[in-house]
Amino acid sequence: MNACVISIGNELLIGQTINTNAAWIGQKLSDIGLLLDTVITVGDEAQAIVEALDAALAKHTVAIVTGGLGPTHDDITKKVITDYFGGKLVFHQPVLDKIKSYFEARGYQMPANNEGQAWLPDNAEILPNKVGSAQGMLFRKNEKYCFVLPGVPREMKYIMETSILPILREQIRDQVILHYTWRTAGVPESVLAEKLDNVAEIEQHGRLAFLPKYTGVDLRLTIKAGTIQNVETHRRAADQHIRAKVDKYIYGTGDIPLEQVVGEILRSRKQTVAVAESCTGGLICHKMTSIAGSSDYFLGGMITYSNDQKIKALGVSEATLVAHGAVSEQTAVEMASGVRHRVDADYGLSVTGIAGPGGGTAEKPVGLVYIGLATPTETRAHRYMFANDREINQERSAATALLLLFKALKGDG
Ligand code: ATP
Ligand code: MG
Repeated sequence: MNACVISIGNELLIGQTINTNAAWIGQKLSDIGLLLDTVITVGDEAQAIVEALDAALAKHTVAIVTGGLGPTHDDITKKVITDYFGGKLVFHQPVLDKIKSYFEARGYQMPANNEGQAWLPDNAEILPNKVGSAQGMLFRKNEKYCFVLPGVPREMKYIMETSILPILREQIRDQVILHYTWRTAGVPESVLAEKLDNVAEIEQHGRLAFLPKYTGVDLRLTIKAGTIQNVETHRRAADQHIRAKVDKYIYGTGDIPLEQVVGEILRSRKQTVAVAESCTGGLICHKMTSIAGSSDYFLGGMITYSNDQKIKALGVSEATLVAHGAVSEQTAVEMASGVRHRVDADYGLSVTGIAGPGGGTAEKPVGLVYIGLATPTETRAHRYMFANDREINQERSAATALLLLFKALKGDG
């Protein structure tokens, strides 16, 4: 059993709207173990929609269509698909009443052209939409399912969650495909592959993929099996193998971010951290405070962009800045210990570097970054050469700073 998403809308083709619906549906289907293997995007055009349906239903058990159910003249999806399955649109007074009261509840009178949304196919099951006016639909033909949903993400999600996922879960009970992720940091992809040693052994349990990110490499295993229980057996066997070989690089599973793992360790030890940032401009503080409950361990941070602020806010010595420059090991050390002391935290993290594109020299090129860490027992800074790209330098600096703290917390820094 497999699925195809058909995204309809001219705005998707010209890049005015990013197709987040397809990505979200892909995630949800993968969570329940149904394989989404194709996404087709077409404009609001009858012939293109028909061709997409032909292609989808030829090779897939499930087609999920989004977009073009609105009340305006360019929304043709409902009519085209009803025709495609040989039905006709009929008027539903109860649906019209619901749409009217939906508008009234928001203090509007229903515009006349919304009346069209009460005309629904006589050959489909209606999937109720309580957060908007376009209803969802399910057409069934020859053991195949064609779901049709509005394009508005909130409405699409509502109908997926309340109607479609329950139906699909029921259908795929005995052919499950699930994905599992082990998150690693501090080891390049090729080294990780080497350390895993016998990948073929892991692949007895599923298909293994290496997914490099700024924060590290994710290992993703896709397991196909008859039942959830069998999938779980394979997952456990693979987990044992993976942990036996590369456990020290794994900081979490699923989609847990490193800042959350670091935070959980700090919280469990009742310890705290403060951050001094230059070239990352607050990115590390942002990441840490994106985690709910971070006030338990994150005390505060300073963005000290100028030399003057490094001196005033952190107590970096002027002599250090003159002798070594703002982007130097010594400055990173003084920033880390400065913020640790001034904020009175157990750990102080610091970043200073040249994010680019300007500001590089032969001696200190774009991508040069020093990251400092002050712990209760020592303060050290490390030198890194990242990339020739501002965004990458900022993201990698933030990820590396978090990794340094993680390692120190685990005692292998
Ligand atoms: P409505 O009932 O509101 O008219 P509709 O089914 O007609 O819904 P569209 O007109 O196609 O939906 O799109 C409505 C909104 O949803 C637009 O802002 C559009 O950009 C957005 N949208 C449509 N398709 C997608 C998609 N695949 N991903 C993200 N957003 C989308
Ligand atoms: Mg549209």
